Amino acid sequence: MAEVLVYVDHVDGAVRKPTLELLTLARRIGEPVAVVLGGGAADAAATLADHGAVKVLTHDASEYAEYLVVPKLDALEAAYEAVSPAAVLVPSSAEGKEIAARLALRIGSGIITDAVDLEAGDEGPVATQSVFAASFTTKSRVIKGTPVITVKPNSAAVEPAPTAGTVEVLKVNFSDEATGTKVTGRTPRGSTGRPELTEAAIVVAGGRGVGGAEHFAIIETLADELGAAVGASRAAVDAGWYSHTHQVGQTGKTVSPQLYIAAGISGAVQHRAGMQTSKTIVAINKDAEAPIFDLADYGVVGDLFEVVPQLTGEVKDGKA
Ligand code: FAD
Repeated sequence: MAEVLVYVDHVDGAVRKPTLELLTLARRIGEPVAVVLGGGAADAAATLADHGAVKVLTHDASEYAEYLVVPKLDALEAAYEAVSPAAVLVPSSAEGKEIAARLALRIGSGIITDAVDLEAGDEGPVATQSVFAASFTTKSRVIKGTPVITVKPNSAAVEPAPTAGTVEVLKVNFSDEATGTKVTGRTPRGSTGRPELTEAAIVVAGGRGVGGAEHFAIIETLADELGAAVGASRAAVDAGWYSHTHQVGQTGKTVSPQLYIAAGISGAVQHRAGMQTSKTIVAINKDAEAPIFDLADYGVVGDLFEVVPQLTGEVKDGKA
């Protein structure tokens, strides 16, 4: 069976959920070979083998942390040459897409970005994309070279598929360009203690109806009771009430949690593009005609300043 390279996104060996989703998709089209760069490879390798990686290629060097993407690109290209895979899958993060695009250019291949599904086809993997604010679904296939495909988070379920997962150290020769752009400083984002938005099982999101930065506390309180991440519409972000890293939608993040609670959000097509694949959608809006209700599994017509604290209280009581 053909091998499929999977570029691993991890933090010190803790593999991030979008990579585990990639392994589910990779198994549909071949045998996953994972590429882990930087420290923590042993921890990552165990997780990757549990999720179906037949082989894990590792390489650690200070260049991965000290410089921008080129060292990682050099390593992925080395893995590509070592394996001659049927496809290369990369998570659709900003960095992932840059690495994927540069790799496609280097190896003379076509690239598909932001796929939301992947299936085997007679002439190579077929990727599904959701385009024009999710108004159209397209299917496409790379017809030149080895397909390089980036896949959005939450596009597939994480499925354990334990294998022996051999670990090999990759040989990497860094190119002259690898050290061209040095990282001069890092400022870690303050931790909220909440789950990462794109990986959370529950998201509570607020929109313009929240009415101000100071009122987002009621959204956060409900989120904390539920162990959820906080999301925001672009209107709330543009007003400066919540940071852009929490924006859900076409120009924000795509989420697909088990439960999405939208409070004071009208449900514009660009917002829906980022959350409509959520398993259960609850909308709280004082306008019974708001388009979000067309999409919601459960709707509450009411003032969020009354409904959200009541809901928080119910969740609290339910846990007592
Ligand atoms: P509004 O549309 O103003 O809706 C506010 C809602 O709150 C209303 O339905 C109102 O009835 C309700 N409300 C008011 N007060 C209360 C209350 N007290 N209790 C209960 N309900 C109340 N938007 C995104 O969200 N994400 C994107 O990524 C995004 N990308 C975009 C990209 C482009 C190119 C463009 C053109 C637009 C994009 N937008 C995006 C903007 C989008 O079109 C909408 O303007 C935006 O989603 C509206 O946000 P909202 O629902 O919070 O505000």
